Order: sequence, then C-alpha cells, then structure tokens
Amino acid sequence: MGPLLMYPALYLVIVPMILFVIIIVLDITHRMKAGKLKGDVAQAQTQLFVSDIATNFSLSGGTSTAQRIDGLLKKLADYYTADLVLLHPTDSEFSDLICTQHFAKNGAKITPQQMSVYQKRWADYLLEFSAAAGGGSSYMNEALNHKLNKAKNQPWFFIPICNKDKLIAFLYIEASGKRSPWTEGQLVPLPVVSRIVSDALEKEMSEMRISFMAYYDSLTKLPNLQLFRERAEQAIHNARRDGKTLGIVYLDLDSFYSINDALGNDGGDRVIQAVGKKLVDGLRNTDIVARYGGDKFLILLNGVGHVDDISKVADKIMCIFQSPFIVDDHELFVSASVGISVFPVDGEDVDVLIRHADIAMRTAKDRGRCQYAFCSINMRETMEYKMNLSNSLFRALERNQLEVYYQPIIELQTEKIKGFEALLRWMHPDYGMIPPSEFIPLAEKTGLINQIGSWVLETACMQTMAWKRMGLGDMNIAVNLSVVELRNPNLVKQVQHVLKKTGIDPGRVELEITESTMTKEPDYIVGILNDLKKLGVRISIDDFGTEYSSLNRLKMLPIDVLKMDIQFVRGIEKSMKDQAITRVIMNLAKNLDLKLVAEGVENTTQRDFLKSGTCNEVQGYYYYRPMPADEIPSILA
Ligand code: C2E
Ligand code: MG
Ligand code: MG
Repeated sequence: MGPLLMYPALYLVIVPMILFVIIIVLDITHRMKAGKLKGDVAQAQTQLFVSDIATNFSLSGGTSTAQRIDGLLKKLADYYTADLVLLHPTDSEFSDLICTQHFAKNGAKITPQQMSVYQKRWADYLLEFSAAAGGGSSYMNEALNHKLNKAKNQPWFFIPICNKDKLIAFLYIEASGKRSPWTEGQLVPLPVVSRIVSDALEKEMSEMRISFMAYYDSLTKLPNLQLFRERAEQAIHNARRDGKTLGIVYLDLDSFYSINDALGNDGGDRVIQAVGKKLVDGLRNTDIVARYGGDKFLILLNGVGHVDDISKVADKIMCIFQSPFIVDDHELFVSASVGISVFPVDGEDVDVLIRHADIAMRTAKDRGRCQYAFCSINMRETMEYKMNLSNSLFRALERNQLEVYYQPIIELQTEKIKGFEALLRWMHPDYGMIPPSEFIPLAEKTGLINQIGSWVLETACMQTMAWKRMGLGDMNIAVNLSVVELRNPNLVKQVQHVLKKTGIDPGRVELEITESTMTKEPDYIVGILNDLKKLGVRISIDDFGTEYSSLNRLKMLPIDVLKMDIQFVRGIEKSMKDQAITRVIMNLAKNLDLKLVAEGVENTTQRDFLKSGTCNEVQGYYYYRPMPADEIPSILA
C-alpha cells in the first residue's frame, strides 16, 4: 500500500505544492517572454536612435554646423532623458569649427562656474580614462567600457570624441537626480555615438578646410581678397539702399623689406600676423580686415554715417602703429601708409574703390610715410596720367618720341661755350613735350632708364663728334646718369662701348651723378666710379648742396666737377645766407681742386656775383635754354 493511501492527509500538502510549482513555472515563462519583448523594444529604440543621429548630419542640407550640432544635442537629450547635453572642443583645430554648445531641457544658460565643474570632471575622467585605456588605437572602446560601470552609479557621463586617435571634443550628458537613470542597454551604443559624431565633425571640418582655403589667408587666418570682395559688395549694396557711406582702407607697411632683412622671412611672417591681429583687435567687429597679400591689408569700414567718422577710424588705425610690436622677443616699431576711398564719392564698385584707395596710399607714402590720405579727384587724375605715361613710355624710344636737347655751358671769365649738357625731352603725341622730371622717375621705376640712358649717351657723343667734324670745335658733353643706371652691372661696359663706337675723346665726356645718388649708395658707388674713371671720362656731382655730403667722402671720391644746385644761384639776390653758402661752395671746390659749374644763371646779378668768386663755368637761361641739336651750329658759329 502506498503512503498516499496510508496517509490521505499528504494530498493536502502535495497537490498545492504541485500547483504552486506549475504556477511559478508558468509565471517565469511569462516573465521571460515579456522581458524578451521589452529587450526587443529597447534594441529597436537604440537602432532607431543610432540611425537618427547618423542622418542628422548627412540630411541637413542648408543648415549651419552649429544648427546640425544643436539637432544632435536635442536627440541625445531625448534618448537619454537628460537635462543637459554639452559639446566642448578640446583640440585647437576643431575649436575653429565648433564652439562649446549645449542643450538644456529648461533652456538655461551655462554659468562659468558650472563650466569649470564640468571641466574638472572631464580632467578626472581623462586621468582614469588614460589609466584604463593605456593608450593605443582601441583606447576609445576600452575607456568607454570602463566608464560604463561608473555611469550606472552617477547621473552624468562623458562620450569622448576622437579623430584618428586624437581627442577632439567631449560630449557631457547629465540627468537631474542623485543616481543614474540609465539602463545598461542605453549605454551600450556609446562607442557608436562617439564614432558617428566624430565622423560627422571630421566631414564638417574637411568642408571647412576647403572653404577656408578659398576664402581665408593661411598665414593670418584673415579673409582674403575674394571674401573681402564679396563682403564689400554686400556692404555696398546695403549702403546704397540705406543712403549710407562706407570706407575702404588700403594699408601698406613701410619698408617691410628691411624687417624681412633683419628678422628673416619667418620673422617677417610673424610681423604680418601681429599687424593683422592688432588691426582686428583695434577695430569694430563689423569692420572687415583682410590680407591683400605681402605686407598689404584691406579694411572695410562698414555702416559709416559720415565721412568724418572715417577719419576717426583712420586715426585709430595710425594709433595702432605707435606702440611697438613684440615679435620673437624683439620690440619692433612698424609703420604703415594708409589710403582711403569712400563710397560713393570715389567709386561705386569694389574694384574701383580698392584701386582708388591704393592711389591714396601711394600718395601717403610719397608724402613721407606713416600717414594716411584720402583719395581725391585730383589725385586720381594725376595717377591716371602717370599710368598712361608709364605705359606709353615703353614705346617712346622705338617711336622716335625721345629727343636730346643741349644746353650750352659757358666759361665765366671768357664767356665762351665750352660744352653742353644733354637733357632729354619726350615729345608725347597727346600731352606734348614732357619734362624729364615727370618721366625719368617712371623710367627708373620700370627699369627702362637703362635702355634710355644708354641711348642718350650714344646720341650725345655722336652729336658732339658730328659738330667737331663740322669744324665747330672740340666740345665737352655732360650726360646725366640715374641711380638705377649706376646699379646696372653692365654700365661700365656700355659706356666703354659708346666711347669706342663714337670715337669721342673720353676726356670730353662728363658723367653727372646727383648728390643724392652719391649719399644713397655710399660704398657700392666708389668702385663703379673708379672703373668709369679708368675709361678716361670725368665725373661730376650734380645738384650739389641739396644733400649733406660728408666732406671726407667728397675728398675720397674720384670726382672732377661740382655742379652747384640752382637754389643757391637763385638765392644770391635774395639772401645773404645763400650768398655765404655759394661762397663756401666756391671755396670748397677750389680747395679740393674741382671744377665748379653753377646751374640756373638767369640774370647779370647772379652772373657777376659768381664771376667775382671762383666759379669756373655757368649754365642758365641768361645765356641759353636747352635747345634741339640743329640749333647749336648757329650759336657755335
Ligand atoms: P639737371 O641735370 O640738374 O639739369 C638742369 C636742369 O635745370 C634742366 O632741367 C635745365 O633745363 C634746367 N635749367 C637750366 N638752366 C636753367 C635756368 O636758368 N633756370 C631754370 N629754372 N632752370 C634751368 P630739365 O631739362 O628739366 O631736367 C631736369 C632734370 O632731369 C635734370 O636736372 C636731370 O636730373 C634729369 N635729366 C634730364 N635728362 C636726363 C637724362 O638723359 N638722364 C637722366 N638720368 N636724367 C636726366
Ligand atoms: Mg645734370
Ligand atoms: Mg642739376
């Protein structure tokens, strides 16, 4: 007999137990099914979230990086039911692209105190993070896994954003409350989130790099001409609509080459950077400072009410250059010349305004640097005239527009013609006869003076020989040499060639160099003059008295003639002082055993004064003006 039959009371225990077990098993099975379902839902949610943030960047055409990041922060806040999500760049390159940006559920701003708390947490995190990850390429995942455990116990966590093993930013996610509200499942996709954000930022960054190259100057990080032009066009459009004016400033550093010489090109680059920075710091945010290349900057003065306001800004710009720039521990004083054009008076489009500001800048430079000038109609016309001259000068020689005039040089005591000075004239088809003071500087700038100068020398020597052959006597011929010609390494050869070709007696040829050339090119010139002297020609110092020649140098230079400048001759009648200086120059020449020629004698008073002293020869309108070659035979006869 079984025990159940023996003890029927056992039924009362076993049956409920069996029923209980069945219920438990059923319950567990049910719970397991429900749990799996929940897991499935969570997984689906996670997948949805990941794909959502992945498309956030790729599908948001037309929005800015900041707007796209904003969208991301909101999505993160939703998914993690967070109260605050913050993105903070930690790499300088990326801080050009992204600034610290946050999303707070209650719309609150982040105070500096809060920010320093987050940064402290980030510093602690980094310490642990590097200890846990130990560097290496997989350190992202390890670090994240390591921090997951922590995140379960505290209401905030970080998502580090790495790019090619370099930390570029962090995401900080915080919930209110004391304990973490996150499920493990929610924390699982952190590495994926990190990857998506990092890829997206890298993509934004490379787009930014491309547009940066097109629109910004790489050295100064300032807008380049292209961007400046676009902004200025927009500003002009607005100014026209609102009836306002605006200014374009063209700034060029003075003697930048000497800074480059002293500091090297790298040092020069740092000076350019420092100048750009000081300009940006010293001007309003609405003004646009751009680098125009080299040592040139353009500044757009926006929304100006009145032209007077532009002068105030110009004063401010000049002020920037009154304190030194610190570059490589050197204190450097840099100066700049500034030209300003104003819309609409000086032009209505960007390129014209830039060109006119450039003209004004050159005028400021000519006035002695370190100043500013406004563009004026007068200035523009002069500049246009000069540009036209400069362009047509290239053809002047081959079109036979150049002509040598001759001004007789008279021996004072005998009043006989001893020789001539060759003086160049340009017969311009539109402007008529142009004096050398106007076109010689242009020819010097373009280097054309070498070709022209050598033509003048040859023409003058040939002419002198022609007069000699005509039986008009042996005349001296004085020809002016420009400083640019003296720097030409072929000069001595060219002179030698002309002497040989024309057969002139070298002792009859006088080469005039101005006193300013002599003081500007002190050492280099001595060798050249000595070489010229070896050819047998004579050297004279023109416009003597206008510079400050050291008497010692004068003694050492291989010169034969002094030509006293016209200003002293003019002053003879007017001032005792000029008379005194003239006497000093006469004595100086005599004592140094140099021939003295006085320029610009126009009347008998001047002539008599010079005659009473020791002046040897004179040249001036009192005797003859410079004249074409064909008029000379009649006066010689
Ligand atoms: P410069 O060599 O000092 O020439 C003397 C200038 O004084 C000439 O001016 C001459 O016409 C002018 N002059 C002569 N007598 C009188 C006078 O009594 N009164 C006044 N008011 N002026 C007088 P120009 O011909 O206009 O030449 C100006 C300068 O241009 C020259 O000064 C010279 O430096 C330069 N130049 C002329 N021809 C050449 C050339 O072929 N080559 C170079 N490099 N320079 C030249
Ligand atoms: Mg001369
Ligand atoms: Mg002179």
